[in-house]
Amino acid sequence: MPSVGRFAPSPTGALHAGSLVAALASWLDVRARGPHARWLVRIEDADTERCLPGMGEYILGQLAACGLQPDAPTVWQTRRTARYQQALDRLAAEALAYPCACSRKDIDLALAARGIGHARHGERVYPGTCRHGLHGRTARAWRFATETFTHGGHPPPLRWHDRRLGAQQQDVAAEVGDFVLRRADGPWAYQLAVVVDDADQGVTDVVRGEDLCDNTARQILLQRALGMPTPAYLHTPLVRGADGHKLSKQNGAAPIDTGTPAAARAALDAAARVLGLPAASGTAESHTLADMLAGWVEPWRVLYNPGP
Ligand code: GLU
Repeated sequence: MPSVGRFAPSPTGALHAGSLVAALASWLDVRARGPHARWLVRIEDADTERCLPGMGEYILGQLAACGLQPDAPTVWQTRRTARYQQALDRLAAEALAYPCACSRKDIDLALAARGIGHARHGERVYPGTCRHGLHGRTARAWRFATETFTHGGHPPPLRWHDRRLGAQQQDVAAEVGDFVLRRADGPWAYQLAVVVDDADQGVTDVVRGEDLCDNTARQILLQRALGMPTPAYLHTPLVRGADGHKLSKQNGAAPIDTGTPAAARAALDAAARVLGLPAASGTAESHTLADMLAGWVEPWRVLYNPGP
């Protein structure tokens, strides 16, 4: 089976130095596997409210300016909502998804009543209020029945391997709880969309930023619940700003400059440094983007051991 990798940006802002690292890493990981491996790009615009108009196309232009061309037409999540609905219907039919009427305030009150604060990074671990029915209240969201599923043959904690970070584990029921699959206001949650998309696109190797590492156990549970294969995972180092915080669209990271080939080469060179790859050889003038990218394939193979 040929390897398939992907880059899956959300069009909530332009590519910045951090997201270019994930794009370059996922591209190199595919190229290092030989001519049959394929690199896909998926625009994760499922969360329509956070997406900026025209940003998906803009990101595709930035990637092209960096010489990162996908091997198949781009997939847009907003065109795939019927597939997400099918997956949710399947989970609901197996009592692995249930409607939830709780607002954030309801959740806080239920947690406070049990003497539990926000357990993890200030996030709420859903207390399971609607697990056994809405009792006449109106549904606001659909949740995955994590507790039901994890007690049904996959005892916690869930263990998985990251190609760079090594052994990982998370007790999803205790640390995250019954997470949201579809939100009250309609949008499909990232967790469900990403799992359905990766499976439908035949993705075998997920390479993405370390900030997403924490989502992986939830995604593996969903893959198991939906009978979908689990890809291999590699989470790349984050880029930090001068203040030590990771660069993100939320904290206003500057878009990479792809206005000229020299600027694109400089952006790629900086991304390669974050990945521990050697400086591109040759002068900026004599070096084409394609030469530069090709020159990192072998060093990538040595450092990250992608296999055939
Ligand atoms: N769309 C996500 C983001 O831009 C990435 C999803 C993924 O690679 O799994 O942060």
